[in-house]
Order: sequence, then C-alpha cells, then structure tokens
Amino acid sequence: MSVLDAVRKLVVRLSPDPVCDDCIADRLGLSQRQNANQKTRELAGQDGFERFKAECSLCGATKLVIRKLR
Ligand SMILES: [Zn+2]
Repeated sequence: MSVLDAVRKLVVRLSPDPVCDDCIADRLGLSQRQNANQKTRELAGQDGFERFKAECSLCGATKLVIRKLR
C-alpha cells in the first residue's frame, strides 16, 4: 500500500471528523511532516475530499485539516 493510500484510508476512517497533517503523520508513522502535507494536498485535489482550516478532531489545534465528504 502506498503512503497516499494509507493517508486516504485514515482520512476516510476518521470522517466526518477532520484531521490535520501532523496527526496523519503521527498516526501513520511518517518520517516528515512535509510528506503528510504533500499527500493531503494531493488527496484534496481528488473528488470527495476537502481541505480547510478547522479544529483537528485528534489534537484539537486549529489548522489545515482534511476530511472526506459524504
Ligand atoms: Zn491534529
């Protein structure tokens, strides 16, 4: 499974709760924050995903988060 697939799977599982890049990197054990950031931007360009500024459902910080639309 590619990193992008792993990110997608996690985002889908948590939805409709939004999750930030840092929590995605943390949950998946990604080595660099930049990596998760790149993957969520890639995901956000696909159908059914939205990226926006809100409170992350895992860490509670207000930052850029992503979720899957229903
Ligand atoms: Zn978070």
